Amino acid sequence: MSEENHLHHIIIVGGGAGGLELATKLGDSLGKKQKALITLIDCTRTHVWKPLLHEIAAGSMDPDRHELEYIAQAHWHHFRFRLGRMDGLDRAKREVTITPYIDEDGREVIPRRTFKYDTLVMAVGSTTNDFGIKGAREYSIALDTQEQAQKFHRYLHNALLRAQTQAEPLKPGQLEVAIVGAGATGVELAAELHNTTRELAAYGLDKIDPDRDVKISLIEAGDRILPALPPKMSLAVDVELRKLR
Ligand SMILES: Cc1cc2nc3c(=O)[nH]c(=O)nc-3n(C[C@H](O)[C@H](O)[C@H](O)COP(=O)(O)OP(=O)(O)OC[C@H]3O[C@@H](n4cnc5c(N)ncnc54)[C@H](O)[C@@H]3O)c2cc1C
Repeated sequence: MSEENHLHHIIIVGGGAGGLELATKLGDSLGKKQKALITLIDCTRTHVWKPLLHEIAAGSMDPDRHELEYIAQAHWHHFRFRLGRMDGLDRAKREVTITPYIDEDGREVIPRRTFKYDTLVMAVGSTTNDFGIKGAREYSIALDTQEQAQKFHRYLHNALLRAQTQAEPLKPGQLEVAIVGAGATGVELAAELHNTTRELAAYGLDKIDPDRDVKISLIEAGDRILPALPPKMSLAVDVELRKLR
């Protein structure tokens, strides 16, 4: 039993697709009836549904309108939310430790904390596999978190602004985006980028001709795009994508 009260304490680390759903369901069942104390820990304040990340990267979706505040979800569904990155686990003492929360000016907002649990669920997801390819980690942006999606979008936006305002003519390849992986996310990102670069250019970036200056390359190791889908589907999407060139 937890020291904080006499209820069985379930801690879930990671509020992604799995952890958030679990915390919500346990909160609605055990938490609401006060049969257990449910705590969700995540290192971010909000949850974004990952299949939407390509839209954030391309700039066609405003993340503020689609993200879910953990603290609000916790309030509505009878669990507690604790903000911080888990960096310690003591299985003998049944404790997890989370890092302090530091703001953008480097000030500590929440100190390091330790929580006792009776049941621990680890739902921290995965990291992008770069297959150990030299330079991939340093020189590419993975698309696995909201932060990475927003970083890519800032790069894209800045590249367009640079191209618009520089004194010299655009260099070949200056506005070239290479997307590695032609699964659903890569394909959708390519199509979204085609549209949003045109929309951005239409907002007064008159030095940029998207048809001439913006190049989007989709790179796939397999012999077709969308390798997880039936060949007929890959072919149909391939035809549609090529029309965007
Ligand atoms: C771009 C993209 C598109 C996708 N599209 C689809 C799709 O169309 N259909 C589909 O079925 N699947 C899709 N997926 C896969 C799907 O999103 C994952 O399978 C799913 O999110 C895995 O859920 P999870 O709960 O295991 O981890 P995640 O959803 O990754 O959640 C992990 C959570 O743990 C938190 N965390 C990590 N480390 C710590 C720590 N040390 N301390 C505290 N918190 C921590 C993170 O902040 C995050 O909130 C997509 C994934 C991506 C990246």
